[in-house]
Amino acid sequence: MEILRCEKLSKYYGDGWTKVTALEDVNLSVNKGEFVAIIGASGSGKSTLLHMLGGVDLPDGGKILIEGTDIATLNEKQRSVFRRRKVGLVYQFYNLIPSIDVRQNILLPMLLDGQKPDEKRFEELTEVLGLTEVGLSHRMDHKPSEMSGGQQQRVAIARAVAAKPPVILADEPTGNLDKRNSEEITALLKLSNKKYKQTVLLITHDEKIALEADRIITIEDGKIVSDEEV
Ligand code: ADP
Ligand code: MG
Repeated sequence: MEILRCEKLSKYYGDGWTKVTALEDVNLSVNKGEFVAIIGASGSGKSTLLHMLGGVDLPDGGKILIEGTDIATLNEKQRSVFRRRKVGLVYQFYNLIPSIDVRQNILLPMLLDGQKPDEKRFEELTEVLGLTEVGLSHRMDHKPSEMSGGQQQRVAIARAVAAKPPVILADEPTGNLDKRNSEEITALLKLSNKKYKQTVLLITHDEKIALEADRIITIEDGKIVSDEEV
């Protein structure tokens, strides 16, 4: 079953002689439950594609459908609700809120969405945080600044997974981490995919991590140049 689709997606930055084509006529269809890696050189349009798919930014041409809804038909407010419900975003630099603790950071998207976290959800989050070698479930009351990069990224993933959005979009989440932390973060994304059935799109520079995916898409100069099952 298809969960995400884009048709002839284009995005330009600037205009006149400074105009940059970041994406051009990109067509893509992702099925529910797929784990897709997106690779490509720096500047090839990977982040732009993920931002469009996540409704963070709007395309200049083409269409995006998530669970059959065309994002362009939503107004700004509807779009932000839609994004919160349907998409969990993970960035290279974690983007946690520094002034609140780990528990509050993780629960924020659920609270914003009007969801009441129950015991079961807490157990799941504890599982996500505790899965890895250095468990984090006892650090729920720590501020992000009191944690290492790898720990902060695990919190960011727990946050993205927590509200149970059907789609997780991760933009080089291991780009700033060492090998061991990168493996753990990849394992968490696999858990969200296998256990919670979330569809994952993961941008990575790391070939080994890309091979963990079901499918690898390569982008070059704003176009998909290859799309292969692993
Ligand atoms: P990637 O994530 O693959 O490194 P990006 O999607 O960030 O690539 O960028 C694609 C192209 O669009 C690049 O040429 C980049 O310089 C340009 N670009 C991205 N964001 C902006 C922006 N906000 N303003 C102007 N140009 C941008
Ligand atoms: Mg990028």
